[in-house]
Amino acid sequence: MILFKKASDISDYIAQQQLIGREIGLVPTMGALHQGHMALIEACREQSDITACTIFINPTQFNDPKDFQKYPITIEKDIYLLEKNGADIIFLPPIEQIYPQGTNNIEQYELGYLETILEGQYRPGHFQGVCQVMHRILDIIKPQHLFMGQKDFQQCMVIKRLLQLMKSTIIFHTCPTVRETDGLAMSSRNMRLKPEERKKAVAIYEALTNIKKNLKPGDLQRLIANAKDILIENDFAIDYVEIADANTLELAHSWDGKQQQVALIAAFQQEVRLIDNMILTD
Ligand code: AMP
Repeated sequence: MILFKKASDISDYIAQQQLIGREIGLVPTMGALHQGHMALIEACREQSDITACTIFINPTQFNDPKDFQKYPITIEKDIYLLEKNGADIIFLPPIEQIYPQGTNNIEQYELGYLETILEGQYRPGHFQGVCQVMHRILDIIKPQHLFMGQKDFQQCMVIKRLLQLMKSTIIFHTCPTVRETDGLAMSSRNMRLKPEERKKAVAIYEALTNIKKNLKPGDLQRLIANAKDILIENDFAIDYVEIADANTLELAHSWDGKQQQVALIAAFQQEVRLIDNMILTD
């Protein structure tokens, strides 16, 4: 595994590899890696000749400075895991390699409706930051394939939109959410949960499963209210519990029994904000 810190070095290396016909797959991350990230690495290895992983905690996507300051960093373990799981390249840039002109006055993206709901609504500016860092990383690495997790459902839609805006030919792959044995979606933020909080955190999965199990055509408000009750009983402070069209993310108040639906939750377990989602229809 080769580790790069400078954008021009990794760009040159990748350009050489592409000249001899190798296809590059990219797994962008913010580190504190876990088995969810490793599933992306595995999917990437299956589809690409060279698997590249980036680790960069992007300041422009954090609307809450405390969340940024407390974001876990486990870089040595990350490098070990990537090596063990067969990544070929790791890009660990210092901030000036990503934002050579600084982080003020950087590009804004036309994300439309997607930015006004759910994570867009509760984390103002978040998806602009995600697009800023992804645009830069894609320009540096120029992969043929990009792998991201369904865990961040709305983020996947935003990045597909970014690829359209960039008129990019990169093939986007969405990978299923990897869960702990009790159902909690793996997340770097789970490390910040105290043992008691960790036990209660599984309520997000239970709330999603409850929605899926009881979904039937008609009004959805009862279903959403029940899911909220499960979260509140477990001391969650809720940002949102919503059901939406899985293709457009248009929020749904009733279901016609046909459209593909997804349930999405964001809630705080004390200091730690967790998100998860579940496709409700097969
Ligand atoms: P992050 O490091 O949290 O920014 O995540 C990097 C990538 O890993 C994103 O595409 C996430 O959606 C994906 N990811 C995070 N957690 C999981 C998980 N539990 N299962 C699958 N993919 C995940």
